[in-house]
Amino acid sequence: MAAVMDAGPQALVKDGKVSIYQPEQKGLIFPELPVFSNPAAHRQHLKERLVGACRAFAQQGFDYGFAGHLTVRDPENPGLYWTNPMAIHFSQVKVSNLICADHQGNVVEGRHAINRAGFVLHAAVHEMHQDIVAMCHAHTVYGTAFASLGKKLEPITQDAAAFFEDHVVIGDEAGQVAVEVKAGHKVAHAFKGVKAAIHQNHGLLTASRHSIESAAFWFIALERCCQQQLMVDATGIAPKLVTPERARYSREHVGSEYIGWLHFQTIWDELVATQPDMFD
Ligand SMILES: [Zn+2]
Repeated sequence: MAAVMDAGPQALVKDGKVSIYQPEQKGLIFPELPVFSNPAAHRQHLKERLVGACRAFAQQGFDYGFAGHLTVRDPENPGLYWTNPMAIHFSQVKVSNLICADHQGNVVEGRHAINRAGFVLHAAVHEMHQDIVAMCHAHTVYGTAFASLGKKLEPITQDAAAFFEDHVVIGDEAGQVAVEVKAGHKVAHAFKGVKAAIHQNHGLLTASRHSIESAAFWFIALERCCQQQLMVDATGIAPKLVTPERARYSREHVGSEYIGWLHFQTIWDELVATQPDMFD
């Protein structure tokens, strides 16, 4: 059975032209999208990458107590998703302490409790958008600071252009802890057709229709873009912006789900080499 990943290398061919990232270099080493022979192998892969995403968040300093949650949809049971356990540091998440929950927030597998506030947001998005397979959320320093401004990122760099016309600002229910289902539905509505959201007075969220690797990398990228935007704004000098046409071109070429997945491979390889307890 093929992996549930629909935006692979073929997505790099646009208008008959091959992207610069297309691996047209036969015989040379290049990351390849996985293919699975059965759901159990697929599930194991997803759980391992979810742990990798949590460890990457720890490396980036994205922890804030027990706040922050990452989810990935189960490959066999789309009404279930895997997530990090409540009140476990991102650096201590491992395959054996992940939990699996349904859309009502019932833990159906695992020994740990679930973060209810996180469940409300993620479950609503996963339920409304069946194509979204993974989500990330954390209370990061720069993303949360930038979120207080209630404005979108500007295309100040090629990297920021990856989010051009591909993220939203959610102002409703701003600053109120997201424990109500109503708040979750507003976030879910906002995620129509975009990969990221800036939740005013709260933090950042990313969603992927491709993989947890893509969701995690674009979260890291979004936090970095917020930091850069704040640094530029602090100069008091208006930055030169990438034009809308060029920003769209850059987004299509370096802001895709596949490119997010590809970026994450470098992080994954480093984690595999240095943190073997991920697989415990
Ligand atoms: Zn939160």
